[in-house]
Amino acid sequence: MQSKHVAIVGAGPAGLMAAEQIVAQGHQVTVYDAKPSACRKFLLAGTSGMNISNADPFETFLGRYDEAAEWLQPALSAFDADALRAWCADLGVSTFVGSSGRVFTEEMKAAPLVRAWLKRLRQAGVEFCMRHKLVAMNANQLSFSYPQGTIEVTADAVVLAMGGGSWPELGSDGEWQGMLESQQLQISSLRSANSGVVCTWSEHLQTNFAGQPLKNIEISLTRISGEPLSLRGECVVSRDGMESGVIYLLCKYLREQIEQQGEAKATLDISPDNSLPQLEQRLTKRKAKESFSKYLKRSAGISGIKTALLYECIANPQSLSPAQLAAAIKSIPLRFTHTRPLAEAISCAGGVCRVNCNDDFMLTQLPGVFCAGEMLDWEAPTGGYLLTACFATGYYAGQGVCRYLANN
Ligand SMILES: Cc1cc2nc3c(=O)[nH]c(=O)nc-3n(C[C@H](O)[C@H](O)[C@H](O)COP(=O)(O)OP(=O)(O)OC[C@H]3O[C@@H](n4cnc5c(N)ncnc54)[C@H](O)[C@@H]3O)c2cc1C
Repeated sequence: MQSKHVAIVGAGPAGLMAAEQIVAQGHQVTVYDAKPSACRKFLLAGTSGMNISNADPFETFLGRYDEAAEWLQPALSAFDADALRAWCADLGVSTFVGSSGRVFTEEMKAAPLVRAWLKRLRQAGVEFCMRHKLVAMNANQLSFSYPQGTIEVTADAVVLAMGGGSWPELGSDGEWQGMLESQQLQISSLRSANSGVVCTWSEHLQTNFAGQPLKNIEISLTRISGEPLSLRGECVVSRDGMESGVIYLLCKYLREQIEQQGEAKATLDISPDNSLPQLEQRLTKRKAKESFSKYLKRSAGISGIKTALLYECIANPQSLSPAQLAAAIKSIPLRFTHTRPLAEAISCAGGVCRVNCNDDFMLTQLPGVFCAGEMLDWEAPTGGYLLTACFATGYYAGQGVCRYLANN
């Protein structure tokens, strides 16, 4: 088979995985990246414990991608969590399944894996052109700006793996959106995913409680589709809203409400271990002269930030009857006006729409140009689903490139 030249744009997990598949078939592969070094976001993700995948049963795993599950299914079947773990092991990096089902690398960081991977890719013949930023493209003709000027590259096939738009200082700045729109491609604009949500707290709450964790709570909302959704867990109250934990998991649905209705509504249960009748029963016996906060703590175990939120969101809670108070505790109204900016989010929603792609993630209007990773229009919660889909789509697009080159 004749060796062809393939340009990969983006040295993140998706781009490098595609490069690995293509070089293995004997093609010449050059990886271009705007930044001086590879995998900056992956390395950052690794600093908080490298959660690379998840041990969910496959159907559950797939369900995490919601509307995009069907689209991603072939890629995730071809390179699933087990395949990813075997691939890590092949690079000398052991993984383990944590109590939550999340898959972590043994060393809890990405650096050893990235080092071993880059070494293996270089040994296989992959060339790297760092500090090369793709600034224009016309099908397979690419224009890169680099410190000495501009360089034009024509490749037999191209893989675009330029990431989403969060943490732009790490390289994935989403500027490719304009470039691809000018190629008549349909792009769903990049928005925050797995991010905090914004509301207006009183000065008192901001000053005294911002940054505090809110443990053992349940947040409920109604999806735009009408489907009710409740999630139990914890989150953090920030100066201008809420973040982390269940908020990240619900971010997609809160964002959809904000996009369609101008604001998102949810309710917060700060006593999820008690049913409404149980809580009402507990609240019936208020002692004479007992302060309201002592009464809440003694009878319902509610204190600190939970009491503060009750005062913040319910008018005069101290004047409510036990039945009214129990109902209020189990259904504190929350309203959010925005998500936190994309630049701060863990990941993004939006990207290159499915309608542009064939089954191998090739852009049908630009034959020979493939896309992979977070720049495709899917989103998923944290828990290892993001990286797994980036690796899997990189793997699948890389295999697609090889099939394309074999026939063209
Ligand atoms: C703080 C944080 C924590 C995270 N933790 C986890 C986690 O625990 N588990 C998990 O599964 N996921 C996690 N993620 C998400 C995960 O890191 C990303 O989904 C993944 O890195 C995306 O891979 P990618 O290859 O698609 O894009 P990226 O990793 O973003 O790589 C894209 C590359 O393209 C380059 N590029 C962009 N534009 C151009 C251009 N015009 N020209 C040339 N090069 C360009 C960039 O420099 C970059 O190197 C986390 C993300 C963040 C920000």
